[in-house]
Amino acid sequence: MRIPIIAGNWKMHKTISEAIEAGREIEQVVQSSDVEVVICPPFTALSALSALGLTKVKLGAQNMCAEVAGAYTGEVSVLMLRDTGCQYVVVGHSERRELYGETDELVNQKALLALEHGLHPIICVGETLAQRKAGETERLVIGQIERAFTGINKAQVHEVVVAYEPVWAIGTGETASAEDANAVIVTIRQTIAKLYGDDVASEIRIQYGGSVKPANARELMKQSDIDGALVGGASLQAEDFGAIVNYK
Ligand code: PEP
Repeated sequence: MRIPIIAGNWKMHKTISEAIEAGREIEQVVQSSDVEVVICPPFTALSALSALGLTKVKLGAQNMCAEVAGAYTGEVSVLMLRDTGCQYVVVGHSERRELYGETDELVNQKALLALEHGLHPIICVGETLAQRKAGETERLVIGQIERAFTGINKAQVHEVVVAYEPVWAIGTGETASAEDANAVIVTIRQTIAKLYGDDVASEIRIQYGGSVKPANARELMKQSDIDGALVGGASLQAEDFGAIVNYK
């Protein structure tokens, strides 16, 4: 059985004190949920949130370096993330791909390194509007998955979370219809089945992301293959994020 996982990506928002306040509030509002809840604050707030000892809310980072240590000014390593107590790390978010030129190969390197050091990568894939209009969604997403999973062995797959995030739906208020999102997620699961077999594919959790809000969370979560959400804007307010987590 796949336990749904709902993660909040705070992007470049919240100072340490704001993060502490939001973390405490979220812990309260998600108390009775049976969903796995993760928040991904900026790096600067990870340790402070970890020190709160939240029990219902796990921590994730929004990115990490593809190298373990060395002369990489401005980067944060997997060991440093482990040090903060975080358990998840988002890799290949479309903003990283688009604004910082991250390739599928780099995403793969980061995912492998995260797994090697005991962090769960949340691997983001998804098409742009132009790609969708050109009918390239499936081909693109299949390729992103194949490249992101290169070298990940069968025993590691269940440690990974995939987030299907159509780029045109991120931060725009536009959501893929629940059926369309589910159809792409089924394709992702089939791709994983081809790589690792049906049993492995039936275990991996695949989230939808892109303007998820309290009003559409239930419809999305009702779909056969959607196992959670990666939430940007609506994760910044505890009330909204709580309403998404408590979608039932
Ligand atoms: C995201 O940043 O991953 C995201 C899905 O953002 P939003 O929910 O704001 O569209």
